Amino acid sequence: MINFKLYVSFFSLFCCLIIVFITLELISIWWLVLYLFFGFIILGIASLTMRWDWFTKAFIHLKTTKKVIAITFDDGPNPEFTPQVLALLKQYNAKATFFCIGRQIEKHPDLLKAITIDGHAIGNHSYSHSKTIGFSTKKSWLKEIERTDALIKQTTGRQTKLFRPPFGVTTPHLASALKTTNHTCVGWSNRSFDTFFKSPKTISKRVLKRIKPGGIILLHDNQVTCIPVLEHILQVLQSEHYTLVTTNDLLHEK
Ligand SMILES: [Zn+2]
Repeated sequence: MINFKLYVSFFSLFCCLIIVFITLELISIWWLVLYLFFGFIILGIASLTMRWDWFTKAFIHLKTTKKVIAITFDDGPNPEFTPQVLALLKQYNAKATFFCIGRQIEKHPDLLKAITIDGHAIGNHSYSHSKTIGFSTKKSWLKEIERTDALIKQTTGRQTKLFRPPFGVTTPHLASALKTTNHTCVGWSNRSFDTFFKSPKTISKRVLKRIKPGGIILLHDNQVTCIPVLEHILQVLQSEHYTLVTTNDLLHEK
């Protein structure tokens, strides 16, 4: 499979060839414009597709036949929904992973404590989760990651080595920062799109269609739909004899 370094090498090589052809007046300059345009489109798609592993290796599922699944919640802790999520998980004897935003931890440290007391795993989901975070330099990524790590440690006494990129966007700068901080990049194999769809029925249907052993489900505990969706998923998974584990457990099985 082609990786980022190979892509850059081929991209640069063909770019030079096109420039030579243009200099020799064999082709128009528009070929270069078109080439650069498609080159950057491919880079954009690669940034949004963690499973390509172009910039950093992402853990997106465990290859197994064992009926284990990891449910993950992003963007919390949230005072309205996180306590309800915790109650449901307890009711179904399920463990999950919460990828928390530093800014939210600062506002709701007790919720983060409650998550760990219940035996769930915590992951780092940046400090700000800003819309432009994908354009951050390595230095900015390090600040985002280290600030949130410090908040998790200060609040729960625990350290996390799990990181989930906001919006699932990976870049060379993020990859370099994760190498420095030694975090594992955790993606997903089953995206609910619960920040897009408004109907719990549509979201549950989408998730349940993609249920597989070793899968990682992405939900958000700041969405109004997360409670009915989670309840439905837990009911089905229980009836199909799945064990709900943390992403740490899946990583250990790996
Ligand atoms: Zn997020």
